[in-house]
Amino acid sequence: MTVHTDDKTATLLASLGIESENPGAYDGTWIDTSGPVIQSINPTTGEPIAGVRTASIDDYERVARAATEAFEVWRTWPAPKRGEIVRQLGDELRRHKDALGALVTLEVGKVLSEGLGEVQEMIDMADLAVGMSRQLYGKSMHSERPEHRMYEQWHPLGPVGIITAFNFPVAVWAWNATVAAVCGDSMIWKPSEKTPLTAVAVTRIAQRVLEANDAPPIFGLAIGDRHQVGKPMTADTRLPLISATGSVTMGKAVGRAVADRLSRSLLELGGNNGIIITDDADQDLALRAVLFAAVGTAGQRCTSTRRLFLQKGIAASFKERLVEAYKSIKPGDPMDPGTLMGPLIDARAVEDMQSAIAKAVEQGGKVLCGGEAIEGDGFFVQPTLIEAKVQMPITCDETFAPILYIFEFDQLDEAITAHNSVPQGLSSAIFTTNVLAAERFLSPLGSDCGIANVNIGTSGAEIGGAFGGEKETGGGREAGSDSWKIYMRRQTCTINYGDELPLAQGVEFDV
Ligand code: NAD
Repeated sequence: MTVHTDDKTATLLASLGIESENPGAYDGTWIDTSGPVIQSINPTTGEPIAGVRTASIDDYERVARAATEAFEVWRTWPAPKRGEIVRQLGDELRRHKDALGALVTLEVGKVLSEGLGEVQEMIDMADLAVGMSRQLYGKSMHSERPEHRMYEQWHPLGPVGIITAFNFPVAVWAWNATVAAVCGDSMIWKPSEKTPLTAVAVTRIAQRVLEANDAPPIFGLAIGDRHQVGKPMTADTRLPLISATGSVTMGKAVGRAVADRLSRSLLELGGNNGIIITDDADQDLALRAVLFAAVGTAGQRCTSTRRLFLQKGIAASFKERLVEAYKSIKPGDPMDPGTLMGPLIDARAVEDMQSAIAKAVEQGGKVLCGGEAIEGDGFFVQPTLIEAKVQMPITCDETFAPILYIFEFDQLDEAITAHNSVPQGLSSAIFTTNVLAAERFLSPLGSDCGIANVNIGTSGAEIGGAFGGEKETGGGREAGSDSWKIYMRRQTCTINYGDELPLAQGVEFDV
């Protein structure tokens, strides 16, 4: 294997324990894995960074056994003590924030401030989960029977399978792992095959925390494709919950496999997010928000804005300003602090973007700017604006690239109907200074998405709220609020402290 790394990259990789070839599974020790080697490719150059020996089905089995054993011990630790391990994980992430953030940028191609932001999100999740570890509240109820007490309590659920996508290679693990850990679950992580190095680096960080505390190896790792790891994991009856983040196609396969064994799935799938801008909106604010949400991360966020609805009074002038702004964006090295947009993840993503643009034109769309792949090293494309019609089928698909379809509308309800007419339902936004329009958008007749914002773009959610979407986005919720409940099992308890045995609903059964 040829690995092309300069001295700076070599130092970065070494600081995170990444070697030229790395084992792809951890069960408390790093397993000498026997699956094929995959190379992690730097999308900025198209060159390999380092390799990972993937987990075979036998390696997966080892990790699953260890996760099952770790759960038996971990669930007996008091929740606040589990929280203390997660607190230390957060501290260790703080210490490695710069290096890990740079590795995210190297492996995924998102700009450095977003790479660092992703690690900050992990740290924020750790902080949130520490607090949760003392707040896994159950309710108590008044029993209808005299001298009886009723309450609900929440117990650890079991080993959890975590499948993650390439575009948030470490934050999505943290959304799941920090909360699952305080809830008393062990876990097995199957990261994307496109981002194996960040997964190895994070697991090494977590390993140090576990070992320093003699904690069971709850943070298992098995790197491999859907055949080696994905399918054995989703079929594994030892895992009562599979949390899967990725495309709708993946979610349908995982959802079916998990439903077949009547277990739980938590699905975080694709989005096709829209912003509505009304005539009275603050145009400057809206322009900045659209740019970040549509061009940021090269359009590779599940919450990226893909559809823009402009009210007729401002449509022409807003489009003009947007085209100017798009033309000023020069895709480049994501490590360079001046860069706003890095590359796409791989050559396939560039082809998918080109094919979507061709279809849009065939279906009556007009390219206003961009539209081309950029020749040279790496997987760079031009951010693209396309004037479109709501009926164009391509606008109902999620193309994971910086394409923004623009539509015009007269009345708000017309825009809301068009906005809701796609199969996905993740994130949505309206820009308006009219309180009636804002409230209509947030009402039951408004946006049908899991996330609905006013005067904020569709991407960049905070961890305090529950994150997720409706319809083909899968219905899952992760991160803040009461999302922790899916990682636990609920038990309803009734205690009789009297010497009679009254039956509920007044049923008599005397012998
Ligand atoms: P992907 O679906 O190709 O892969 C995601 C993960 O699923 C990978 O680890 C992959 O190996 C695994 N996988 C694929 N098929 C599987 C199967 N049959 N069984 C088990 N595992 C399987 O997605 P991607 O290209 O890595 O990521 C981009 C997609 O993820 C986009 O659709 C994006 O919207 C979505 N995403 C959603 C969220 C969210 O929270 N809703 C967050 C990030 C990304």
